[in-house]
Amino acid sequence: MGEIVLKNVTKIYEDGYHAVEEVNLQIKPKEFMILVGPSGCGKSTTLRMIAGLEDISQGEMWFDDKLVNFLEPGERELAMVFQNYALYPNMTVYKNLAFSLEIRGVDKKEVKKKVEEVAKLLGLQEVLHRRPKALSGGQRQRVAIGNAIIRNPELLLMDEPLSNLDAKLRGQMRVELKKLHESLGNTIIYVTHDQIEAMTLGTRIVVMNHGRIQQVDTPERIYNNPVNQFVAGFIGSPSMNFLPMQVKSRPEHVEISSEWGMFLYPKYMTKWLASWGKHGKVLLGIRPEHFVDEYHLNEITGDSYEIQVTVKHKELLGNEVLIYFDLGDVNCCARVDAKNNVSAEESIRLWIDLARIHYFDERTGANLLYAYRNQEEKERRERA
Ligand code: ADP
Repeated sequence: MGEIVLKNVTKIYEDGYHAVEEVNLQIKPKEFMILVGPSGCGKSTTLRMIAGLEDISQGEMWFDDKLVNFLEPGERELAMVFQNYALYPNMTVYKNLAFSLEIRGVDKKEVKKKVEEVAKLLGLQEVLHRRPKALSGGQRQRVAIGNAIIRNPELLLMDEPLSNLDAKLRGQMRVELKKLHESLGNTIIYVTHDQIEAMTLGTRIVVMNHGRIQQVDTPERIYNNPVNQFVAGFIGSPSMNFLPMQVKSRPEHVEISSEWGMFLYPKYMTKWLASWGKHGKVLLGIRPEHFVDEYHLNEITGDSYEIQVTVKHKELLGNEVLIYFDLGDVNCCARVDAKNNVSAEESIRLWIDLARIHYFDERTGANLLYAYRNQEEKERRERA
């Protein structure tokens, strides 16, 4: 399988609902591409159009130099794993895996070899003689994946394949899927609403909202430089804090302030911030991990801004603790070291890592520093 290209792909359902709007996407061979976004944003519809299970209303779908808009699923040389996968209950795991090869008349010896290969890859050797009902949820899901990969599809489509599993199994399966992709070397397109799955599995991530692509990039870049407030809030857990700020242009600098703090930026920055201060207001975005405590102060390499806050409540997560406090009218969350033995109503000093904060246009949600951070990253890469 070469490149998969979606050009202005739109899906309008029969009732007139626009589920996917003008999606443009280029998926390279061997990518592990994740489609992520909230429920109803059009992820499954996009995947089903790639699979050929759903008609494309407008636009073009290309597999390499072949227009596939009108190809049946069976003609597209792909395999698919769904959330509600079906195994044959009366067949053993061996038979379930062998079945799709046997009906294609593959020679018995070859079938055995393939089943053993797949069973080894997925850790199913010990359970080949069992029927599905005697398997754990994770084992059943591995058989479903085995069914999909046994014919070496160059393109594997997965729609929330782990969502029926408990948290621990999901964690294990994430690791296994990542290894599986490395050993198969095929293209995987994977739908999930879970941003942790997206961040850990994807070589690239497509973030969708309301049928439209918001951003396509590597997990790191999406996390470090989200294109807008939606992506910034969707990726990362707990979510980024958003704080309204006033913008004032002074003769020597731009002043961004609120009742709890003030940041000054040199005037030259305004060239990166075209709409900065147009309405006199911006939203400041700070991730919980970028409020830094005294134990991690040395991890801030650039400028920082010190604040003193009163803890309202806290949640212990093992070696980390989430503390909640107010800045102005906004309830904020910070992720700090569990060594901070603070209780509710006590105060704590925190430092905001200024190189990691974001500003968003409060009307459009656009990240005002997006181009600036891209330029910064480009220069860093060139120096390295
Ligand atoms: P996601 O996978 O992101 O949860 P879907 O692609 O399943 O979202 O659905 C996108 C939107 O299209 C949703 O609002 C859903 O209700 C709607 N939708 C899905 N299938 C149909 C259909 N057959 N007819 C009309 N609307 C549909």
